Amino acid sequence: MCNEFFVFAGPCSIENENQIKVSTQFLKQFPEVKAIRGGAYKPRTYPTSFQGMKEEAMKIVNNLKIAENVAFVCEITNILDIPLFENVDIIQIGARNMQNFELLKAVAKLNKPILLKRGFGNTIEELLASAKYIEASGNSKIILCERGIRTFDNYMRFTLDLGAVAFLKQHVNYPVIVDPSHAAGDSKYVIPLAKAAKAIGADGIIVEVHPHPQDALSDANQQLNFQEFANLIEELHKIK
Ligand code: PEP
Ligand code: MN
Repeated sequence: MCNEFFVFAGPCSIENENQIKVSTQFLKQFPEVKAIRGGAYKPRTYPTSFQGMKEEAMKIVNNLKIAENVAFVCEITNILDIPLFENVDIIQIGARNMQNFELLKAVAKLNKPILLKRGFGNTIEELLASAKYIEASGNSKIILCERGIRTFDNYMRFTLDLGAVAFLKQHVNYPVIVDPSHAAGDSKYVIPLAKAAKAIGADGIIVEVHPHPQDALSDANQQLNFQEFANLIEELHKIK
């Protein structure tokens, strides 16, 4: 991983070809954007919520990678889907699967970077134990992600544990990134949380960006529009 502060950005979910293409073309203009995010398999609380475009989204990703020459980070939720992730550059393990040990062991074998998100009810010790599962399967290309935890307060969707970032930076050698979008749950707090992440020493962020957040099929409240994303990058430049 590079030394400069990096950004993974894109919509919560891939919703159609145009939405992810327009997002990719906009985001790739920013040199700090090292990968485009976009969910194909969405772990949703309610079975009635949009579950992702699944295989169809993976086909769109494969085509876009060739057309736009960008790296993609996508969340995997099931071992059976592994063949579909052959061309994905960074495999995301979501908060809800941080302790899905069979999934961790199986994706580790792909020998690709694994973005391991902290479960919202998990300790740092448990996060590091999950990282050890990936390492024990022969893969040390691990990126840890603090994305907010459940606490007694709910003024934001989750409580971003910035102390965890400071702790991890002192105790492990893996890159540590922050997801300000899922922590905040509201686009108006994303920029301040992202700035705090950089200030405390995170290596980067993963942030949700959508061409029309109000129409998003998942996480509409927390996605930045393109102008807000440009503002975020400008604000990050002010943090040294
Ligand atoms: C996501 O990044 O799309 C996501 C579902 O995040 P988390 O696993 O942190 O809830
Ligand atoms: Mn989301």
